[in-house]
Amino acid sequence: MCQPSPHLWNTCYRLLITFLFCVASSHAQGTTYVVLWFDTEDYIDPISDDAALRIANDLTAEGVRGTFKVVGEKARILERRGRRDVIEALGRHCIGYHSNWHSIQPVPAVSVQHLGFLEGADEFERRERSGFEDVGRIFGVTPVCYGQPGSSWAPQSNLALRRMGIHVYLDEGTQLGYNDQPVWYGGLLYVFNLGPYQLRADLDDDTPLPETFKQFDAAVSHFAGSSGGLISTVYHPTEFVHTEFWDAVNFANGTVRERKEWVLPKRRSEKDAEHCFGILKAYVEHAKSLHNVQFVTAADLIHIYATPIPPVVDTATLARHFKESISFLSMPSGDLSAADILLELLHVPARYVDGPTATGITTYEETTIPAFVFDSMLQDVRSFIETNHRLPNEVFVGSKTLSLVDFAATLAQHLLAPGPVLVVHGKVGFERCFSTDAQSAFKWPIHPEGFAPEELLQLARLQGWTLKPARLR
Ligand SMILES: [Zn+2]
Repeated sequence: MCQPSPHLWNTCYRLLITFLFCVASSHAQGTTYVVLWFDTEDYIDPISDDAALRIANDLTAEGVRGTFKVVGEKARILERRGRRDVIEALGRHCIGYHSNWHSIQPVPAVSVQHLGFLEGADEFERRERSGFEDVGRIFGVTPVCYGQPGSSWAPQSNLALRRMGIHVYLDEGTQLGYNDQPVWYGGLLYVFNLGPYQLRADLDDDTPLPETFKQFDAAVSHFAGSSGGLISTVYHPTEFVHTEFWDAVNFANGTVRERKEWVLPKRRSEKDAEHCFGILKAYVEHAKSLHNVQFVTAADLIHIYATPIPPVVDTATLARHFKESISFLSMPSGDLSAADILLELLHVPARYVDGPTATGITTYEETTIPAFVFDSMLQDVRSFIETNHRLPNEVFVGSKTLSLVDFAATLAQHLLAPGPVLVVHGKVGFERCFSTDAQSAFKWPIHPEGFAPEELLQLARLQGWTLKPARLR
């Protein structure tokens, strides 16, 4: 029998590999989106104004639009210093909001730490709306996104931000996250906690680029093999011209210091600063050189992600899911948050509603609920949601209560097996998306020492009813 030569085998093998690669590539079309953002916050040293100007102009020259999240006081200072050049250069990019005072106490998480969901939202809005409006007035646009100073995150901000007209939360943090990609949470598109897809070239490393490019390319090839994904890259203009943060040298550990006592952070040499601008330029040019990589701004994000309107899914599927776990559900046709599912099971038209404001408790001890009582419970919950645009903490069974979680599981059970209403105790699944370590989640040099607001994580988990993955269109 004739044996093929090793050379022929080799050729066939290579052809096969090439063929398989081509087949794989023809299906590998996911786009990598890169949101490049700059927390523009140092209102102490004027050299930071020039850094922001330089970055904005460099990006414009590259044909790339970034997102500049501007602090209220920074915008006012730019106006006072007559820096129309900086305002105009940044204005060619996307403008976001980065708190009114950034590091002046009480910072956002400190100010709402002991407040509930609703009063915390009111307080956040009271402190932040004027800064948001100043940035809007000075830049002539409505800021598109918000992100907290440092790790000073608070779940109450979501409601306030929606009232202010902001729909995108763009930042880094570990308080919540799912699958290293954006989620819908609190009625906002959350770009947060992207893990390995939070990338940047280190400005202080002598040879940061090869390693960063390797990570960047790995992310791009991962997203190419799937339906695409997002890389989030953050810098601060101040980093390019300083070796230390403007706020750390003035306001560490909750320090309060009068304006005339503020000191300037240590500056980089001109050569060093030039090196830093070069690193950003090289990073941007590398991303531009890759196939299927696209820079997006915070404003673009709203368009590249599908709307959060939940898909139509049959009630039995939703009820079975809830019996297993009170959590979001991903279907081929779209995603539903636990709140979306509950509304569907209640036959309430789909819309965004906030989660409960406190942990409800179950005091009802019977194993069944009379049908006429359950009917009035359903009506009561629908009325609560229509009136308050949020989910109730608990539902009355006569004078006793079912926690929202137990009510949801009981409703799911009843829809699957009509007849006597059996009380079922639900299991919450979405809490795995939230940090349980307040100490590390809120670690930031500006927070008072030992700041660990468990209450905020508790409120965050309650709003987990609203969480679901965000899906690219
Ligand atoms: Zn900041």
